[in-house]
Formats: sequence, C-alpha cells, structure tokens
Amino acid sequence: MIGTHPARDVIGALKNVVGPAGWTDDAAEMAPRLVDQRGTYRGRAALMLRPASTEEVAAIVRLCAGSRTPIVPQGGNTGLVGGATPQADGREILLCLDRMNRIRELDPLDYTVVVEAGCVLKRLQEAAEEADRLFPLSLGAEGSCQIGGNLSTNAGGINVLRYGNARDLVLGLEVVLPDGRVWNGLRTLRKDNTGYDLKQIFLGAEGTLGIITAAALRLFPRPRDRATAFAAVAGLDAALELLARCRAASGDQVTSFELVPRSGIALALRHVPDSADPLAGGHGWCVLIELTSSAASSRLRDELEAVLGAALEDGLVRDATIAESGAAAARLWRLREAIVEAQRHAGAAIKHDVAVPVSRVPEFVALASEAVAAAVPGVVIVPFGHLGDGNVHFNLNRPADGDDAGFLARRGDISGLVHDIVARLGGSVSAEHGVGQLRRDELPRYKPAVELELMRRIKTALDPDGIMNPGKVVPL
Ligand code: FAD
Ligand code: ZN
Repeated sequence: MIGTHPARDVIGALKNVVGPAGWTDDAAEMAPRLVDQRGTYRGRAALMLRPASTEEVAAIVRLCAGSRTPIVPQGGNTGLVGGATPQADGREILLCLDRMNRIRELDPLDYTVVVEAGCVLKRLQEAAEEADRLFPLSLGAEGSCQIGGNLSTNAGGINVLRYGNARDLVLGLEVVLPDGRVWNGLRTLRKDNTGYDLKQIFLGAEGTLGIITAAALRLFPRPRDRATAFAAVAGLDAALELLARCRAASGDQVTSFELVPRSGIALALRHVPDSADPLAGGHGWCVLIELTSSAASSRLRDELEAVLGAALEDGLVRDATIAESGAAAARLWRLREAIVEAQRHAGAAIKHDVAVPVSRVPEFVALASEAVAAAVPGVVIVPFGHLGDGNVHFNLNRPADGDDAGFLARRGDISGLVHDIVARLGGSVSAEHGVGQLRRDELPRYKPAVELELMRRIKTALDPDGIMNPGKVVPL
C-alpha cells in the first residue's frame, strides 16, 4: 500500500486515538514543521499527530503498521540533515512528541532521571540543576530541541570531551517498535550484561527503527567551580599540545575545548551586533577553554592560569584572557555562538560536520583548506567547533563577490573533496549531526559494504514494511 495516501478510515482512526487536542491537518499550523531548520528540505504530510502518552503512540503505530502508513517522528525540528522533514508526496504522518514532556522521575542518589521524549533539553538541564545535579548535554539548540531528538541523532555539543555524546548518557529506553509493541527498557542500572545492548540500535537511528518515547539518563555532580579562558594559539598543533597540558594539569577537568578561527571572528564582528574580539592582534587561531569541577574548593582558575603562562613562555600560546566573572565567560561563549549566526548572513554556505582522530585535525584543516581554496578561489573557510573531540565544522561561505546559486551548484564536488580527505585520515563524514537525507547517499562511498549490509538487515528485521521514517539514513 505504500505509495498511496492513507485511506480516510485510517486517518479517522488516528484522529480518534489522540482526540481533538492531538491532531491537525491545518496547512498553516503544519507549515513550520514541514521545512527543516536550514530551509533545505520541504515536505508535506497527510496529518500531524501530537500524542500525549506512550499508549497513544503505540496505538498510532499499530494503525500505521496495519495500513502500511509511513511515519516521520519529530522533536524540536532543529536537526541539520533533514531527518525530521517528511517527503514531498504527502502520504506520511508527522508524529510530534512535544506533548510527551514530563520528567517522570529524578533520583539524586541514583544520579538518574527518567524523562519523556518530548521534554526540551533546557528544561531537563534545569530540573537536574534544581536537584543539585548536572545533565551535561549542551548545544546551541538546547532551548528548543527535545531529548528524544537528541538521542535519535546521538547529539554531541560542547561538553562531549568530558561527558561523551548523547549515547553515553543513556541507561535505558522506552521505544514503540514499528509493529506497535512497546519495549520498556527503562532500566536505571549501571551494569547489565544480559546480552545485546539493544538500546544502542535506537540511539542515533534518526527515527528509522522506532519511536523513542522515554529514556533513563545519567546525571552527574553539579559543577561548583568553573574557569573559562580564550587563548590565541601559535597553530593547530600548538592547540592540541595545549589541550593535553590542560587535561593533565587539571586532573582531566577540561569540559570544552572549542576552536575559534580568525575567519569566524571576522564574520561575527561584521554581522552580529555586540560581538567583540576578546584579544587584540588579529590572531589566526584561538581556542575557548572551559574547566569545571564539582568541588567548590578546587582552584581551576589558578591551574588554568599556570598552564597558559607556561604555554605562553613555550611559544604555544600568543596571548590569552581568563574570564574573571560569569558575565565575562558568557561573553566568550556568545562569540562562539555568534560565529554560527554570522555565517547565515554571509551568503550561501556549504557545511561539513566531520570528525578525524584528534591528532589529525591540523593535517585535515590544512589539506581541506588547500583543496577548497584551489577549487573555489576566494571561498571563505570557517573551520570551527569541537577541537577537543576531533569534530570540526568545516564550513564554507561563498566568495564575497560570488553568487549563491553558482556556489551551491558545486556542493557535490566540493563536499566530495572535503569528505575524501576525511576518509583518507580515518575520519567520519558526520560527526554529530547524523545522516538524515543530507548524507544518506554519501554513505556507500565512505562506509564498508559489510557495515551497510548490516544496517540494511537491522532495518529490515525491525521494520520489514519500511514505515519508520522511510528514505532517511539507510541508502536505498
Ligand atoms: P528533530 O530535528 O525534530 O529530529 C531529528 C531526528 O530524530 C529526525 O530524524 C527525527 O525523525 C528523529 N526523532 C526526533 N524525535 C524522535 C523520537 N522521539 N523518536 C525517534 N526519532 C525521533 N547538534 C549537535 O549534535 N551538536 C551541536 O552542537 C548542535 N548545535 C546546534 C545548534 C543550532 C543553532 C541548531 C539549530 C542545531 C544544532 N544541532 C547540533 C543539531 C540539532 O539540534 C540536534 O541534531 C538535535 O539533537 C535535534 O533534536 P530535535 O529534537 O530538534 O530533533
Ligand atoms: Zn557542533
């Protein structure tokens, strides 16, 4: 039946499951959810459902399974690869989790929280903080992305260096499977070696294997001491040496180590009001460093100052400033965010979210910059992001005097150049944003055939009729 629009009786039954507050087919109401964050993908949907409970999700999926009606799960719709955007044919049901936003249980002694998929990340962070705990996942979209989306994309962000990806924060999951059965795997155990770790299949699956309805997550002690610095480094090799020194000297308390290039600062100064360069001198490469500790008595600021002082003497660091207040630290972080925002005002962009082994970042940036500059003279190269994890957002804005359409028309060959270099260095063409529609057809070039075959087999085993977010992640 896939290929046709859902029959009227299926649509009616789906509406009945959720009641009047839980569905819409109003074009204006659905419109913002039918286009992705970057405006690259546009789709249509037969109906938008907003279930309020796991039972409702299960009933919806049973109906869809019975009628082979495809479903697209959607969280905060902040994803960057088109994973949450339905296809253009309008036969899919859009299933939004935003009404399932309860924090079911937070246990400070267990350092765990059980939360529903539609809970906005920021709210979860706040709930942890109220209980004197930390939920460490943090990213630019945290005010609107949802934990179900974060887990489904295995989101990264600015604290991965210390706490890992979203995947590393999960103890258990509740999932509605593609046949409508509920798998309650909401265990809060730290140790459980009773066979395959099934939750891992759903983490990062981008809604292609089932719908995550709730998760049991790890919490951590809340930081009480924090030191934030902005340092101009002699180069990327020097930055990595500085990272190693910071980790060793602080007892491995480095939470963030973010790369900030001159090109990014220049864009921010030009396009984002109130941006300021923390250091004079127009340095080529800077890093934003943050150390945190849950011990109030710790002396992170002094340790960081000592490391930076020695690195200055050794020529690794050219200049540095340590934030002396929370407000000063926030200003440094705002500059980091402004680089993202500024790129939106600098004409068409071709973006890459790549990872290589940390030690090979300098080589990657040098080779990729050389390749794209030769292919597009005058291209604005903005390599920034999570240097401490080897995850560089290697973003390119069109030349100042170039035209958007001409630049974007070359997306395929330019990304091919960048990704081939990534592959040569043993890297990944999607470090944290996922595959969705954007990277799906690149996977066969960069993943071993055996790996792709296993992915297809898992997809077919769990979702034989292909109703869960079809056309995403798994190459056709
Ligand atoms: P959506 O965009 O709604 O969905 C993402 C995917 O998950 C889709 O395939 C969707 O079908 C699926 N999905 C959603 N909910 C469920 C569910 N309950 N069950 C099954 N499947 C589901 N990402 C990073 O990793 N690191 C960053 O630093 C980062 N920074 C960002 C900054 C900005 C300003 C923006 C706009 C985005 C950023 N992102 C970042 C990307 C994005 O925020 C993340 O991918 C986020 O995890 C998506 O969450 P969401 O709730 O918006 O999911
Ligand atoms: Zn990022």
